[in-house]
Amino acid sequence: MSNASPARHESPTTIARTDVLVVGAGPAGSAAAAYAARAGRDVVLIDMAVFPRDKTCGDGLTPRAITELVSLGYGPRLAQLPRIVGLHLHGWGADQRVPWPGKRFADHGSAVPRIEFDDELRALAGEAGATLSSGAKAVDVEWDGDRIGAVVVEDPHGRRSIRASTVIVADGVRSGLGKVLGRQWHRDTAYGVAGRAYVSSGRADDEWMGSHLELRGSDGSLLPGYGWVFPLGGGRLNVGVGALATAKRPAHVELRPTLKHYADMVRDEWQITGEPQRLTSALLPMGGAVSGVAGRNWMLIGDAAACVNPLNGEGIDYGLETARLAVDLLESGADDFTSRWPDILTAHYGLAFSAARRLAAVLTVPQAVPLLGRPGIRSRALMSMVVRVMGNLISDEDADLIARAWRTVGRVSVRVDDRPPFR
Ligand SMILES: Cc1cc2nc3c(=O)[nH]c(=O)nc-3n(C[C@H](O)[C@H](O)[C@H](O)COP(=O)(O)OP(=O)(O)OC[C@H]3O[C@@H](n4cnc5c(N)ncnc54)[C@H](O)[C@@H]3O)c2cc1C
Repeated sequence: MSNASPARHESPTTIARTDVLVVGAGPAGSAAAAYAARAGRDVVLIDMAVFPRDKTCGDGLTPRAITELVSLGYGPRLAQLPRIVGLHLHGWGADQRVPWPGKRFADHGSAVPRIEFDDELRALAGEAGATLSSGAKAVDVEWDGDRIGAVVVEDPHGRRSIRASTVIVADGVRSGLGKVLGRQWHRDTAYGVAGRAYVSSGRADDEWMGSHLELRGSDGSLLPGYGWVFPLGGGRLNVGVGALATAKRPAHVELRPTLKHYADMVRDEWQITGEPQRLTSALLPMGGAVSGVAGRNWMLIGDAAACVNPLNGEGIDYGLETARLAVDLLESGADDFTSRWPDILTAHYGLAFSAARRLAAVLTVPQAVPLLGRPGIRSRALMSMVVRVMGNLISDEDADLIARAWRTVGRVSVRVDDRPPFR
């Protein structure tokens, strides 16, 4: 994607040690590898998958993600991708078109299938100087006192250790290596279950993404979730449904039939032809609902650190941001990340995630959704506010009434949290 030297691809069997080892080449890991390599570090980026690989996702890039991708150097490719100017919200017999607010973040979003996007970001890390290794699964660590001395990696040739001074763990929602390091996912606050499919459409070049706040199951029952339609260009849409849940109120949603039902519901509106293809689903840890996100010389980033917005399920932007923040911390010369990293995550996301997951938990109560949604969808001003809050498109510098009110809610929420984000 640039004029930099071609990427080095190596089998883990030939890599004995590195300065920075990044585990997982999703958006978070690839961005971290790119930033660290550009900072002059010797970086190895490993992934258990062989690329290009698919990832269950809505494929949507929010304005927050666009802003971050431009800084990362993905801007030229973005110019070739669909431009999404806002959300076309539907529910309870009404609809509203709400443009993305702009201001501190980009004034548009986009969408690109993850099978392409992740491959491109990984290539970008390679161009920045990271050594890329695929088909290599991190399964354990070797300790050197309180530091990770080496990561144990398995590939078809066997097992071996890669010694590293710093380990950045970006291994996604299940975070197998995170678990080895003591990461725990707490499901008492809101988490998501979501599924996506691809469909052919006559409206794949639309500039608005579809969003349905009134999600119904095939039996007509109201579900605590939402549906989305992302136009991908090239005659294709990503269609998906997501539901919110907590340990107390698990989501009893059968995703596949709900997804098929949703695709049928939007069929005429989006000129869909044929049946949904490549249906997949996954869980989403959200709102920093994990503890054990760092140790002496390692940090968890992206989904591994539950950096997903509880109100809309987006996490690509937080993956990219936490990658940048983690490398900034590394470059600050810090010698111990154990408390520094959760402090940084808390400073950036604590208030917003705490407030958002509290609101998300309210939305798991079946009566709450129509109570708030029915009158809300009829007011454009209210929906503009909802889009800004739900998209976490409020920055620390914003001083308007909504921004101040949201921060106040966050401060109160954190104070009464049994378990604040990232703790
Ligand atoms: C249905 C659904 C829809 C979504 N829609 C959107 C959306 O539209 N927009 C948005 O912003 N977000 C969306 N998200 C969330 C988004 O997909 C994630 O937040 C994002 O992928 C996080 O990136 P990541 O790099 O942290 O993890 P991932 O993208 O999951 O990457 C993790 C990588 O680690 C590798 N790995 C795992 N374990 C190991 C191991 N032990 N050793 C080596 N490699 C390993 C995996 O192979 C993978 O490549 C959606 C999620 C779901 C489930």
